[in-house]
Amino acid sequence: MIKVENLHKSFKGAEVLRGINLEIKQSEVVSILGPSGTGKSTLLRCLNYLVEPTKGKIKIGDVEVDASNATKKDIIELRKHTSMVFQNYNLFKNKTALENVMEALIVVHKKSKEEAREISIKLLEKVGMLDRKDFYPSKLSGGQQQRIAIARAMAVNPNVILFDEPTSALDPELVGEVLSVIKSLAKEGITMIIVTHEIGFAKDVSNRVIFMDNGVIAEEGTPDEIFNNPKNERTAKFLNVIG
Ligand code: ATP
Ligand code: MG
Repeated sequence: MIKVENLHKSFKGAEVLRGINLEIKQSEVVSILGPSGTGKSTLLRCLNYLVEPTKGKIKIGDVEVDASNATKKDIIELRKHTSMVFQNYNLFKNKTALENVMEALIVVHKKSKEEAREISIKLLEKVGMLDRKDFYPSKLSGGQQQRIAIARAMAVNPNVILFDEPTSALDPELVGEVLSVIKSLAKEGITMIIVTHEIGFAKDVSNRVIFMDNGVIAEEGTPDEIFNNPKNERTAKFLNVIG
């Protein structure tokens, strides 16, 4: 369902992604781990062309974009097939919880207001935020904001949701509520790629774990293979340090 071929990204001559190849099936949950500065966020951002790759192909669902001849139309299509959840929630501050979830449905997917509202209400209920639907982000906790960001990401029915350290800005006591929402999406069969430092969560929720180091995939495998029996020395070292 997702295929990444020979993806490269350089910033001003510095090569940050150095040939990423990746295939992800429908309903697969893939966690990405690795040291800081390794290119994890850059990889996620390349997948929806928030960052333009220097080279390589990305296929998501039936949309294929080759960096050597990407058109604006391809990029818009690719973005319609993906959603992203950021570390800092990135909600629209001047919109309520409900309006945040409705926004892309109306603007990008051209749904009527009524239909957008109906879909959004269901999603707010799913993430346990219906009772806060008329609150502005500034009146909500980080965990609540992130749950709304997740509802917003789901609203457009994407082929994949990309999570970039969704809990790392949260106070420890709020991490659990967000992880449990993500876990419930995994159970529903939503395809997800999650950059995270939460080892226990990655173990629990992922079908596959990728260890990135210095712009490449250094090792990938099942959670058991990566966490209990890493073959790559750098993976083992990294897990020792953070575990
Ligand atoms: P972390 O775990 O700290 O979030 P990461 O693995 O997500 O790290 P990236 O954010 O992808 O790492 O960054 C990889 C490298 O690319 C870093 O050296 C970073 O400074 C560089 N980089 C990222 N974005 C840009 C940019 N817009 N312009 C220039 N350099 C960038
Ligand atoms: Mg990052």
